[in-house]
This record gives sequence, structure tokens and C-alpha cells, in this order.
Amino acid sequence: MNIIDHIQEELHTLEASSNLRRLPQMVHDGREVVVNGQRMLNLSSNDYLGLSADLSLRREFLATLTPETFLPTSSSSRLLTGNFTVYEELEAELAHLFGTEAALVFNSGYHANTGILPALSDAQTLILADKLVHASLIDGIRLSPARCIRYRHNDLLQLERLLSQHQASYRQIIIVTESLFSMDGDKADLTALVQLKRLYPHVLLYVDEAHAFGVCGPHGLGLAEEEKCIADIDLLVGTFGKAAASAGAYIVCRKAIREYLVNKMRTFIFTTALPPVNVAWTLFIVRRLARMQPLRQHLAAISLLLRQALLERGYTCPSQSHIVPMIVGASADTILRAELLQRHGFYALPVRPPTVPEGTSRIRFSLTADIRREEVEQLADLIRNL
Ligand SMILES: *Cc1c(COP(=O)(O)O)cnc(C)c1O
Repeated sequence: MNIIDHIQEELHTLEASSNLRRLPQMVHDGREVVVNGQRMLNLSSNDYLGLSADLSLRREFLATLTPETFLPTSSSSRLLTGNFTVYEELEAELAHLFGTEAALVFNSGYHANTGILPALSDAQTLILADKLVHASLIDGIRLSPARCIRYRHNDLLQLERLLSQHQASYRQIIIVTESLFSMDGDKADLTALVQLKRLYPHVLLYVDEAHAFGVCGPHGLGLAEEEKCIADIDLLVGTFGKAAASAGAYIVCRKAIREYLVNKMRTFIFTTALPPVNVAWTLFIVRRLARMQPLRQHLAAISLLLRQALLERGYTCPSQSHIVPMIVGASADTILRAELLQRHGFYALPVRPPTVPEGTSRIRFSLTADIRREEVEQLADLIRNL
């Protein structure tokens, strides 16, 4: 069989199991999207604080720019000529806010997670990773020379057993988790993880705060801030593409780790740095995060409302956050329900295997702080009558 025929056959298999993905065509209009001529409230965005639709923020930021300071490209890796001062300003601000020795900014969370583990690992490294960590972390594990064992999702008893069983055989062990998980919206017990890692001096803790940065903690620094354990997490990573309404990612860590990553991390070294204007926008947002507590409180309140509606309707709802899955099961059924919600003006998308385990296809609501209480109440009514 020729190569294209083989590819076509694979695509047909995906289509037959309702798992074929296509790029959706849409026009964005603030909180809403227009798809196939229909205008809907966007319930599938990662713009958790609703900042991307905030025109006053954009006007204020644009007023700081002139043609001389609007720098659309870095033209190079930061190790060559791409290290504009705004990068160091953002890193200094992050280190100051988190109270850490250092911070390092990356082009994206994907770059961070595929680069950090390979840079820090060797053949005497063991990675212990939660079963549900994000694909970017899985790819980082695949690229690293370390051995890896996945523990059952949030099963810290199993993790403790694995640690005591293997700790004598490795130079270092890296525990890898998300703080707030992408698909179930549930949280890791960071306090317990910190206690576990403290049992052995050669264990590092790596926490990905992609969904919690901006949203959790009194200053929006993430779940580690809420749990008061920032200083105990060796590799604390977050992204700017979600609540911070920008692009890029960061790690806050010890100075030595930052310097090591600058030297060893291939996804940092071999790529053109983000445009300085983008980094300036990130800095502009990061400096305002602490003041956004009312947005965080509103988001928490509407999220609770939606979770309660799902529980009342008999859905299992593992979520403890603004990421709220409605777990349906079969992919075809999930798609039908998502279409029904869309006909009623709610743009929520089905999430299917391989993103989630077989048999747990779901509609993933991802709430944002610019969604009004009445809108969530309407959605809850609709779910009750599904
Ligand atoms: C979105 C996400 C990433 C990737 O971040 P980008 O900046 O979008 O590349 C990494 N980890 C988790 C848990 C995410 O949800």
C-alpha cells in the first residue's frame, strides 16, 4: 500500500470512531465566538481571568508603546543577540513576586516541559510522574535519558512506596505533577507532596501550574502560593498563554538551576526568543495579577455553581476548580450533547481519546471570569434538561 493510502485509512478509522479532529473555523468577538454563522458564548477558552477581551487593559498597554519601543521580533536566541532587557525585567519581577532566587522565561509551556526534564536528567535519574500529567510533560520524559514510572493519579501512597523502593538505586529522583489538572480540574495535594519529597535529600519536586497561575492564590501566583509551599518546590513552572492572556512560560527556581538550564536546555537554546513586545505585555499583566482577586473570587463562585448543577444531575464531577468536565462516556454521545449546547449558544467542546482515557469522553467547560452568573445559571438549567 502506498503511503498516502495508508494515511487515508488511518484517518477513516479515526472518523469511524468519532475521534477525527478538524481545525474549527471561527471568528472571535470578545467573550463570544461565531462558528458556522452562529454566535456563542465561549466556554472553551483558557482565558481564565477574561483578560484577553479586556479593551481597557489593551488601551493602557498600547499607550506605553511607540514605534521605537514596539519590538515585534527578537531576531535570535537569547544566548546570541535576543536577550532584550525586558526579558530580564520580567524574570526579576517573577523572582520578586514568588520570593525565589531566580526565574527563567521560555517561549511556551510546551518548550518548558519538553526541555527542563531532558536537561536535568541522566541515566541515574528516576522520574516519578502522575498518570495524568500533560502531554508536554510526557514528551519531556520521552526525550530524557531517565527511567520513568507513572503513579496512579494523585495516589500519594503509591508514590511513597515507589520512593522508598527505588531511592537507593538512583542519583536523583524527580517527582512530576500538575497542580491543577487539565482534564478533570482536580488538584494535587502539594503540601503532602512536599512532605514526601523531604523524606530524601536527592528528590526534586516539579510542579506545572499552567491552569492555576493567575487563578489560585491571594496574589494569583498559583496553587503553591495558596498552599504556602512555593519555597519547597524545586521546579515551579507556569504558562502565560492561559490566565495571563499572553504567550510564553516561566520557571521559578534556585539560581544554580536557572544557570544550568541556560546552558543545557535545548528548547531554550535552539529557538528564537519571544518578541520583546509580547514579553512587555506579559510583564504588564503580571504586575497587575495581585489586584485581580475580585476576578478570582467571581470565577470560583460561578465554577461552584456549575459543578453543583452537574452533581445534581448525577454526573461524577472530580473538579475542584474552573475546569469542569461533564463526563459522558462514549465519544459519539458526547459530540451530540456538545452540539445541543452549541445550538443553545454555549460553545463547549467535546474532549475525546487519546486526550482522555477511553470511555471517559467529556464536554470540558473551561470557565472564565467574564462569564456572568446568569449565563452559568442558564447553562445549569440546560444541563438539568439534557
Ligand atoms: C497548556 C499547558 C501547557 C502548555 O503551555 P503552552 O504555553 O500552551 O505551550 C503545559 N502544561 C499544561 C498542564 C498545560 O495545560
